[in-house]
Amino acid sequence: MISEAQLKAAIAAIASTVASHAEELTALDSAIGDGDHGANMKRGFDAVAADIDAIANKPLPDALKAIGTKLVMTVGGASGPLYGTLFLTLGKELAAAPDDYPGAFKKAVDAVAARGKSEIGQKTMLDVLYPVAAALSAGKSKPEILAIANAEVEATGPRKAIRGRASFLGDRSIGHVDPGARSTALIAEAVAGVL
Ligand code: ADP
Ligand code: MG
Repeated sequence: MISEAQLKAAIAAIASTVASHAEELTALDSAIGDGDHGANMKRGFDAVAADIDAIANKPLPDALKAIGTKLVMTVGGASGPLYGTLFLTLGKELAAAPDDYPGAFKKAVDAVAARGKSEIGQKTMLDVLYPVAAALSAGKSKPEILAIANAEVEATGPRKAIRGRASFLGDRSIGHVDPGARSTALIAEAVAGVL
């Protein structure tokens, strides 16, 4: 069970790591997109962090839904609705089955894929989200999960983008790490440091 204090700490940790890596995310997005991913993510998680007292007051499923709604409203771009869907679905699934975190996370990742009309291997955040979901379901340790996440970020480099703005570049997207994959790994690391 995740406590109110842990949720607050997790959001603070995500907002802090997103802020300190905003330039890196922007640089990655400048190479194969429009250079706004760092600013988008920082705006979104700053907004969640600013509202965290009211959000974390709620039961965990409702708090996660409130975070998702906030992200949809503030992140913008393609990633806003996708990260928003991740948190909204996590909240919805945990309301139905409060103890099954791996199951809820897998369903949340499936919802992101449905929302993005995308699948694993297309050089997006899904390339990290699905392996993390599988590692959670397999009961792997936190260090193992983070090692998988970081390896999967690097593995997006040689891939050709099939979804999102980077896909407009075709073969020229090859050789650059996907910004959304990187932000997903940063979020995983922040959450793992707190839970
Ligand atoms: P935008 O591309 O609109 O500028 P961002 O720069 O904030 O939005 O986010 C880009 C990231 O969003 C990409 O690096 C990728 O990981 C993710 N992304 C974009 N489109 C999709 C999609 N259809 N499915 C999954 N992830 C996607
Ligand atoms: Mg962008």
